[in-house]
Amino acid sequence: KPVIIIVVGMAGSGKTTFLHRLVCHTQASNLRGYVLNLDPAVMTLPYGANIDIRDTVRYKEVMSEFNLGPNGGILTSLNLFATKFDEVISMIERRADQLDYVLVDTPGQIEIFTWSASGAIITEAFASTFPTVITYVVDTPRSASPVTFMSNMLYACSILYKTRLPLVLAFNKIDVAQHQFALEWMEDFEAFQAAVSADHSYSSTLSHSLSLVLDEFYNNLKSVGVSAVSGAGMDAFFKAIESSAEEYMEIYKADLDKRR
Ligand code: GDP
Ligand code: MG
Repeated sequence: KPVIIIVVGMAGSGKTTFLHRLVCHTQASNLRGYVLNLDPAVMTLPYGANIDIRDTVRYKEVMSEFNLGPNGGILTSLNLFATKFDEVISMIERRADQLDYVLVDTPGQIEIFTWSASGAIITEAFASTFPTVITYVVDTPRSASPVTFMSNMLYACSILYKTRLPLVLAFNKIDVAQHQFALEWMEDFEAFQAAVSADHSYSSTLSHSLSLVLDEFYNNLKSVGVSAVSGAGMDAFFKAIESSAEEYMEIYKADLDKRR
């Protein structure tokens, strides 16, 4: 069975570019990938998608038909697509023997996928049928400030606890800024604490309380540094995906079956 990789992250973190990199890497490594674009508003894609939401719903028409703004249009398009998602699942199931990975790109604005009913429906549909791993793409240069870093980690944390799926943090754009600082902050909370204190814009009581949540969170995920542009970190990324897929089989699948 193929492993599903759902790529999420803040707008501009590099999801689409990263997906293109994954496509290049799988092709070069003789791995069989299947690509799904769930962003109805993207103008052009750097990769060829096997299934593209834009072939089914036209978000500009959805906007004018339902009298919506851009975000409402994207959300409604995703809702419309989610109602037919069983067809996508059966299409992938028919090809399951010939696939190693299904790569899923999501809308630019993170909350449209992660905090919507349709995002939950799509994620559940995948996770109940195939080993599924969430990849949370982080804009590393933009996370150098401890407060931005913490916001990003809290967001990823809420996704982990909401989906209950294995999560890989992909610190992207390491061609611009190395992610070493992030690893240090995750391993040594006092180092992070010192950075937050130096920032002065955040209450240290709050960040102390959050530290307990984040510490537990960091124990539950894998993180790798990547560059969607240069291709650095791809082998480490796929190793993290492989062990996350095993984790899915051991822990998450059993949990899913119990909840059903
Ligand atoms: P998305 O909104 O998350 O899909 O982000 P995009 O893939 O559209 O990328 C947003 C911007 O970040 C674009 O200008 C990309 O060229 C740039 N970008 C993405 N990945 C990298 C990377 O690894 N290194 C650098 N330097 N820029 C990147
Ligand atoms: Mg994108």
